[in-house]
Formats: sequence, C-alpha cells, structure tokens
Amino acid sequence: MSYFSLRQVSKSYESQTALHEFSLELAKGEFLSIVGESGSGKSTLLRIAAGLMTQSSGEVWLGDQQIQNPKQKLVAGYDEIKLIHQDYHLFPNATVEENISRPLMNYDPEYKKLRVKSLLEQLGLEKYKDRLPRQLSGGQQQKVAIAQALAVEPEVLLLDEPFSHLDTIQKHKLIFELKEVLRESGTTVIFVTHDLDDALRLTDSVLILQKGKVIQKGNSRALCEHPKTRYVARLFSPINLIPDRLDNYIRPADVRLRTKGELLGHVIDQRFLVHYNSLLIRLRNGGQVWEVDDPARKYEIGDRVYLHFDEEKVLVLKG
Ligand code: ADP
Ligand code: MG
Repeated sequence: MSYFSLRQVSKSYESQTALHEFSLELAKGEFLSIVGESGSGKSTLLRIAAGLMTQSSGEVWLGDQQIQNPKQKLVAGYDEIKLIHQDYHLFPNATVEENISRPLMNYDPEYKKLRVKSLLEQLGLEKYKDRLPRQLSGGQQQKVAIAQALAVEPEVLLLDEPFSHLDTIQKHKLIFELKEVLRESGTTVIFVTHDLDDALRLTDSVLILQKGKVIQKGNSRALCEHPKTRYVARLFSPINLIPDRLDNYIRPADVRLRTKGELLGHVIDQRFLVHYNSLLIRLRNGGQVWEVDDPARKYEIGDRVYLHFDEEKVLVLKG
C-alpha cells in the first residue's frame, strides 16, 4: 500500500531537465536509497518531495494529503516531512540539548522534556548534551541534526548525502546507529547518495537514478547480479568487455588467474588494496586492458597470466 508517493514529477531549470516523470511509491516505514552520480537530480527530487521546491509538473502525496509546493503554501515545507542535507546548520550558540528541543518550542513542556531525553538516549548523545556544536566531531554534529529533525516525530525523513563530510569509520558507525533508531520509530526514509556502498549499508532496496530518470529499482543482490545497464553495473565494480563478444562483460572479482588457458595477458599494473591486489592486465589479443582482482596477491607487473571466467557470471549489458 502506498503511503508516500511521487507521481510523474518533472522539473526543469531554465535550460535543463533535472527530473523527468519521476514516480515512486513507498509503504509506511519503508526505507529506500536513491543512488545516482552528481547532477542526476537527487537534491531536486528531495526538495520537491519535502514541499520546499516547486516542480514543473507532477504530484507528491503523503497518505491522503497532497503536498503543496512553495507557490501554493505560505510557509514552505511540512513538519511531517523532514529534509537533512550535508550542510545542515545547527544553532552555533545553543547546546546540543537546546538544539534538539528547538523545534519543540510550542509543544507541551512535559512532552518536550521526555522527547529530548529519549532522543539523546537513542542516539547516544547524553554525554554531550551541554556542549556547543563546535565542541563535537562531524559525526556527532550530524547526529544532533538528525535528532533535531526527528524531534517532531516526522512521518518521512529525507536524507540528502548527510554523511559526505564524515570519515569512513564515523560514517559506518552513524549509519548503523541511525538504522536502529529509524526502524524503531517507524519513519519512512529516503536516502540519496552518489555512493552505492553507503546506500547498501542503510537499505536493501535501491533505486538507480540517471539524468533525472529511474534506471532500475530492486534489492541489492538483484541489482548487482542483474544490472540492466552498464551504468548500474559500474556502480558495483568496474566491468571488462570480453573480446569478440558483443555487450558481454565480466567483473574483476569474477575473473580467475591461471597458468594455462586461452585468454592470455600481461600484468601491467598492480595495486595493494585492503582486501586483495588489483591488477591491470593487457590482453595479448587486441591490446585491451582488464581490471582483475588477485585475492592471493600472487601476481606482479610483467607476469604472463591466463584469464578464466564462468559463463554464468557474464553480464550482458546494452546501453
Ligand atoms: P544531484 O543532487 O544529484 O547532484 P541536482 O538535483 O542538484 O543533482 O541537480 C540536477 C541537475 O539540475 C544538474 O544538472 C544541476 O546542474 C541542475 N540544477 C540544480 N539546481 C539548479 C538551479 N538552481 N538552477 C539551474 N540548474 C540547476
Ligand atoms: Mg545533491
């Protein structure tokens, strides 16, 4: 059952289409990530979804309420739909506790007290409640921003690359904690990012956006194993074109290296990465360069290798 939906939403700036007939339906409490490269229309999409930007055409619905755009509504935006982006500003001279309670100004004082206490607890911020934003790490500040947005118990939380300023360790920790808090609260969440790995850490369900259009939507496994286009496939890993075969590709992790075989190449570059060595191999036939994983860290520049792969791992990708 659809709870939060965008129906055929389009948006053009003067000369350019940022969103093209974009439709989406989410059930209550559903989590979705939207992944797309920079400029694919992610921020435009979320601002329209929050009622903060006027679309060229199309509708946004929350339950049986149509979301009014800034041209239709005196005070743009809704308490039910909160948008958080990477440059979200906290009040610099207010403590963590004051920042979180700010949106609850007009609420019953008793409720306000309990709500702030519960958010501080859920997000592990009790220790920091009397600090100013500048006395916190980037990850902690972003958590306070999220707590502030959650204060009024929004139905929908829209996250626009909120982790971009954080280092990887902070980011993974925050995503993990956030997932718990949001699940418990039953909030409906749309998370947009250019980083597929971040998306997969927060949600299983992912929509791929390219040039303002939906390219593919599915769970992580389906997208990885059955990408519809090269663009989708490349979000997971590089892909190597198989010589003399039309639109047939193989991933670096699906190539095996042997001392015998048919497809011969030479290692021309070798990089020591966290989980495996990454090799660049120039194929003898045609001179094309493949990227291949070497999990045993066995091969070096100059080595001759034969490349093998299973037919079932071959991706057939057009466009
Ligand atoms: P993303 O968040 O995925 O990077 P955006 O929604 O910010 O994408 O932008 C989508 C497209 O619309 C881009 O090509 C961008 O240059 C263009 N765009 C965004 N905002 C404006 C604006 N205010 N005026 C003109 N063009 C814009
Ligand atoms: Mg953006």
